[in-house]
Amino acid sequence: MTAWSLGYEDFSPDEEGRRETLCTLGNGYLATRGAAPESRADEIHYPGTYAAGCYNRLSDVVDGHRIENESIVNLPNWLPLTFRIDGGPWFQLQAVDVLEHRQELDLRRGVLTRMVRFRDAAGRTTYLTQRRFVHMEHQHLCGLQTTIVAEDWSGRIDVRSALDGTVENTGVERYRKLSGRHLRPLLAEAADDETLLLVAETTQSHLRIAEAARTRLFAGDRLVHGDRSLVIEPGWIAHELAIDIGRDDPVTIDKLVAVYTSRDRGISEPAVAVTNLLARAGSFDELLEPHVRAWARMWERSSFEIADNEDILRIVRLHLFHTLQTVSLNSVDLDVGVPPRGLHGEAYRGHVLWDELFVFPILNLRFPLVTRTLLRYRYLRLAEARWAAQEAGYSGAMYPWQSGSSGREENQKIHLNPVSGRWVPDTTHRQRHVNIAIAYNVWQHYQATGDDEFIVHYGAEMILDIARFWASAAVYDHARDRYVIRGVMGPDEFHTGYPSAPEDGLDNNAYTNVMAAWVLLRARDVLAILPDLRRAELTETLGLTPEEITRWDEISRKLFVPFHDGGIISQFEGYEDLAELDWDGYREKFGDIQRLDRILEAEQDSPNRYKASKQADVLMLFYLLSADELAELLEHLGYPFNPDVIPRTIDYYLARTSGGSTLSNLVNAWVLARANRQQALGYLLEALDSDIHDVQGGTTAEGIHLAAMAGSVDVLQRCFAGVEIRGDTLRLDPDWPEELGVLEFTMRYRAHLLTLRVAGKQVRVSARPGVQPPIRLAYDGEIIELGPGEAVELPPPATG
Ligand code: BGC
Repeated sequence: MTAWSLGYEDFSPDEEGRRETLCTLGNGYLATRGAAPESRADEIHYPGTYAAGCYNRLSDVVDGHRIENESIVNLPNWLPLTFRIDGGPWFQLQAVDVLEHRQELDLRRGVLTRMVRFRDAAGRTTYLTQRRFVHMEHQHLCGLQTTIVAEDWSGRIDVRSALDGTVENTGVERYRKLSGRHLRPLLAEAADDETLLLVAETTQSHLRIAEAARTRLFAGDRLVHGDRSLVIEPGWIAHELAIDIGRDDPVTIDKLVAVYTSRDRGISEPAVAVTNLLARAGSFDELLEPHVRAWARMWERSSFEIADNEDILRIVRLHLFHTLQTVSLNSVDLDVGVPPRGLHGEAYRGHVLWDELFVFPILNLRFPLVTRTLLRYRYLRLAEARWAAQEAGYSGAMYPWQSGSSGREENQKIHLNPVSGRWVPDTTHRQRHVNIAIAYNVWQHYQATGDDEFIVHYGAEMILDIARFWASAAVYDHARDRYVIRGVMGPDEFHTGYPSAPEDGLDNNAYTNVMAAWVLLRARDVLAILPDLRRAELTETLGLTPEEITRWDEISRKLFVPFHDGGIISQFEGYEDLAELDWDGYREKFGDIQRLDRILEAEQDSPNRYKASKQADVLMLFYLLSADELAELLEHLGYPFNPDVIPRTIDYYLARTSGGSTLSNLVNAWVLARANRQQALGYLLEALDSDIHDVQGGTTAEGIHLAAMAGSVDVLQRCFAGVEIRGDTLRLDPDWPEELGVLEFTMRYRAHLLTLRVAGKQVRVSARPGVQPPIRLAYDGEIIELGPGEAVELPPPATG
């Protein structure tokens, strides 16, 4: 196995859920889990297919309350393909003696292969090979090729190739008590002799989904017709093909599937689009080539090499692979955001949270057009965010914690604690800091690309309206002569309020307040970079007055930041009054205490009472801001900054965090990178293991942890390789752990494709030839210009 592949040498029912997630194939438009084609949703398998942005809402009544949830919809399953020998039972893995079972995900080519050798109840030995793709170039096409070899028998086989529109959303056990039937079948018919057509519609959002499947049979390389019949059941349609098979004479079945939805542009309607596409599409083998070439182009822009470290390199590629399968150039024009669990499962119902903060740095420096699209998703929901702010008594724009189709708040009202079996209120929507992430992302995109058009026409408006929201959330506190922000939650989801008012949020979350000041300062910068005409237009349409801008400036200097224990930044005001948790005692009693909140709730207790965090909160400040930036910001806020505070604050919170979110490991690795290399590497390895080893014990089956995937690669790129984009300059301050092996990677900066080779504190940067203006690099206080086709070694090799 090379660093380009992920392989499994057996069939393990217990691990199948995780493997299906990790073997998902997708292209930024749609994705299909790596479930076996003959499987159905049961306690082992979950064959899900999701198209980005296809949501539907369903209602339920729980404890007398009507609740509504919007979910990404599990689309009709296009995979079903099975066969039987001489009229026997349809092939099912559980019913045969499995002699060999191998699965390989080829990350370079985006192909999933499965090989099964089995003996059936009649003693016949059969060898089955299946390959599939979800096409990266033609995003509406998927293919499955199955080859059957009768090793020691001959006879007649019936092959059944189906489209199944009877599927429901049942991928996440804790949601199963709520409704999950999103699809209403509309049509199942034969489009032509070899093509099936299935059309379904979502029950509330009325999205139409059409799938067409063309199944062809080959004896060796020869196309044969076989005896074909059509079977139709409600919401389900299949072709059955019968053919005689000789011993050692392979029979191949190519199933090519087209998927369109009514969200797609440039079509008349989905059913016409899928049938047209299939009528024109080449064979599985012909289509494989452009698919592989599309992946090759993506890898060229996303190349990572780590000398002599195949294990880490494989995971890095796996993480990039799944990131690019969730959002890619095929996502452009789709009006979609970044679902934290990818298009790989149903956790968080496919909503869009703040996780893009951890994903964008990888995209900004490779596919900035994709980031721009994903930011446009936010822009298109600005009106909804303005309305939400107004409803809550604020000004500006208040984006929701969980966003779906329309940008209204989609956070669930109650959630099921699987440990206690109780439904408990969910107040995590108080995480207004999602608005910081959005403003930060707009600004970072601008820093990476210098894309004036985006910031001028869309980005500036978002930053200004978010600044306006923070200014309206900040209340002047006379006694302190400072501004305070009350009733919010920080990133740490264990603290939803004070012990006496657990649902009411917290006052002065330090991360929120410091970053709100940062947003207000960026609003000032944005106004400064706008061309005069656009500035005049925007100030007019937003009704921005000089007084308001002066007020923003004042708030940015006077937001309150809580400290305790001689300078440690407090997670929120009053944090120091909470009880210390008996960490050792809980670890001893429960082993895994990542989800301490659920354990405590089951004991009728609550993490709100303790100095115990689920994930990095204060430490996010050190993650998003360099030490210099943070020092500058705190000084701007009128707090003397002692650099000593950074290591003390880090140690303080690391000792009080359960790691119940995979985001924590990224942040911890990042903040420790320079101070404690070994500890940082420990967290990085844990982040790299998030899904491949399912560090949260079962959650990978519900979808990848996209932020941990992209974010762990970003730790290599921006933290250890020391790449920072700020002020029209690419700053380089590498401190690459040489024990990992020399790192070489490509990235894009201001239209230059750069290759960086990093070892220890040395870096070699080379730019591809081209006609772009030179870029500015900063290294060790020096500014260096780098033009197309040039390379530079830093520090420069000693001469003489
Ligand atoms: C974390 C959130 C995150 C979400 C989705 C939760 O466990 O607490 O910060 O946005 O997972 O990844």
